[in-house]
Amino acid sequence: MKERTLGIIKPDGVARKLIGRVMERLEEAELRIVALKMIKLSKEQAKGFYKVHERKPFYESVTDFMSSGPCVVMVLEGKDAIEKYRTLMGATDHRKAAEGTIRRDFATDIEKNVVHGSDSKVTAEYEIGFFFSTLEIAG
Ligand code: ATP
Ligand code: MG
Repeated sequence: MKERTLGIIKPDGVARKLIGRVMERLEEAELRIVALKMIKLSKEQAKGFYKVHERKPFYESVTDFMSSGPCVVMVLEGKDAIEKYRTLMGATDHRKAAEGTIRRDFATDIEKNVVHGSDSKVTAEYEIGFFFSTLEIAG
C-alpha cells in the first residue's frame, strides 16, 4: 500500500556531506521525495520532536545534537514506505545494523546515526505535520 513517511538527514549527515549519497539510496529504492527542505531546529523544537523520548537518559544529548546544525527533512512516498525506509536505514546502533544499510555504511555513533525515519503510521502522520503543511507536499 502507498504510504508516506518522514525522513531526516541529521546534522552529522549534512556536516559530513552525505546528503547526495543518502538521497541516491532513497531514489534507487523507489521512495519518492514528495517534500524537501533544509532547516535548523532550535533546542526547544528538537525537544518537541523527540518528546516520546523525554524520560530516556539520552534525551538531553540527542536534542542538543539535533539542534546543533542544519538537517534535511523530507516526506518520502512509496509502497510500504515506513517499513521500507526503516530497513534502508538499519538499526539505531550502526554496529548492529545490517550490511548495506545507511547506518552501517555511514554512521559513527549510536546517537550520531545520520538519518531518522518514522516508526509507525501514527508517528509518520505526526512527524510530517510537525515539519510540513499540506501545501508543501507534492501530490
Ligand atoms: P530515529 O527515531 O532517529 O529514526 P530510531 O527509531 O532508530 O531512530 P530511537 O530509539 O527512536 O531510534 O531513538 C531516537 C534517536 O535517539 C536515535 O536515532 C539516536 O540518535 C538517539 N539514541 C537512541 N538510543 C540512544 C542511546 N542509547 N544513546 C544515545 N543516543 C541514542
Ligand atoms: Mg525513533
